Amino acid sequence: MRFIPAPPPEALKTCQRCNLQSPEKTSECTHCAGLSDAELKDYLKRHQGQAEASSKLGQYFALAAALIFTLLVLSILGN
Ligand SMILES: [Zn+2]
Repeated sequence: MRFIPAPPPEALKTCQRCNLQSPEKTSECTHCAGLSDAELKDYLKRHQGQAEASSKLGQYFALAAALIFTLLVLSILGN
């Protein structure tokens, strides 16, 4: 039972400028290439917000999974 397919394994490098990871096969950073310093700052701010939101979403999923598992165990024990 798997809800989220695992991403394909890909070599990543960490950008010296924005500290985000981009595929090693790309010569330029996929995040900050072409951005000015001000744009990069704004981008990182948004990126941080997204990371926090998806981490909260992950917590909800974990909680839901734990709840479903508990209900499953209870229904098995009930029979
Ligand atoms: Zn970068």
